[in-house]
Amino acid sequence: MRELPCDLDFRNCPVSEWEIGPARLRAEAVTHRGPTLGFRIEEADATLCYLPDHEPELLGSIENLGDEWISGYALAHTADLLIHDCQYTDVEYPEHFGWGHSAVSAAVRFADRCKAARTLLFHHEPAHTDAEIDLALADALEQWTDAGHGVDGLQMAAEGEELTVSRTAPESRALA
Ligand SMILES: [Zn+2]
Repeated sequence: MRELPCDLDFRNCPVSEWEIGPARLRAEAVTHRGPTLGFRIEEADATLCYLPDHEPELLGSIENLGDEWISGYALAHTADLLIHDCQYTDVEYPEHFGWGHSAVSAAVRFADRCKAARTLLFHHEPAHTDAEIDLALADALEQWTDAGHGVDGLQMAAEGEELTVSRTAPESRALA
């Protein structure tokens, strides 16, 4: 922690919603190794969901689970931007089941099920090269578009990238 280039300030996380400036925040425990929180941040009409360490298919395929049994569902539901774990390719995942992180297909299924308007995949496997991440994105986009979504709705996160989160127009959300 001492090596992180920032001033860290640890606080207890309330069970209920809380506010920071104009933003309303909510946190819930999500499936990962060790106690881990996911976050939902709402400001004005825009909603951001941040699930950096998350294995939503630990309990089985999302397709077979009711909404209330999907880890992180309430945090991510109809988010304008979902930032989600996507550590493993679908080929790698079976070897890492239970490690607390998502395969490409699980991340795509989660985003689809939660009706996130736009999803940014990250928490890439540290050993992956940029070329391997590009391949994972191609795979993710194929699955995403097969589910009936446009290519604009899904991308890989890149270090240093800045994004503006704004409310998604209802007509484009209907697609999601
Ligand atoms: Zn982790």
